Amino acid sequence: MRISRLRLLGFKSFVEPTELVIEPGLTGVVGPNGCGKSNLLEALRWVMGETSHKSMRAAAMDDVIFSGTSSRPARNLAEVTIFIDNSERLAPVEFNDSDTIEITRRIEREAGSAYRINGREARARDVKILFEDAATGSRSPALVRQGQIGDIVNAKPEARRRILEDAAGIAGLHSRRHEAELR
Ligand code: ATP
Ligand code: MG
Repeated sequence: MRISRLRLLGFKSFVEPTELVIEPGLTGVVGPNGCGKSNLLEALRWVMGETSHKSMRAAAMDDVIFSGTSSRPARNLAEVTIFIDNSERLAPVEFNDSDTIEITRRIEREAGSAYRINGREARARDVKILFEDAATGSRSPALVRQGQIGDIVNAKPEARRRILEDAAGIAGLHSRRHEAELR
């Protein structure tokens, strides 16, 4: 599974509809300080289900919505969509009927977040499972936050094992087992 496109609307500094095509291979994001490079990575983490507003550098989750500037009014909603290239059918079986998987997260002020997968309403945990099986996701070692390398080096063995399990892509199995045990 490969992220092939990222679409933003009203997310942080991306007030105008913005769409980025992510070609195979290495992608670099360059630009002056404050132009929104970190906001882009946060958008990726957010659409994959991030629940911590702190890791979005936001005082509350509503603060990911464009907050206005001297010349533009604030917005009331933010939406991020990623398109996953699933032509190799590596997604979990329930999503494996299409070449592209489209995941959208939308937040409205004081109304919280809603997710859609291929246009259909989805739960946060559906999105989480989708990415856990791909050994990625909002909290995965595939997205390295500032200071995270140090955390891994200093982690206790148990915590380090979780990081390795996430990297190996078996966290999704643990989640499903946990859900099955609850039934
Ligand atoms: P650096 O090179 O310093 O790391 P960067 O390119 O990573 O910079 P970001 O941190 O992604 O920049 O973007 C910061 C900009 O995003 C700031 O100008 C900030 O005002 C703006 N910003 C963050 N949240 C919002 C919001 N909710 N509404 C409007 N603008 C926002
Ligand atoms: Mg930055």
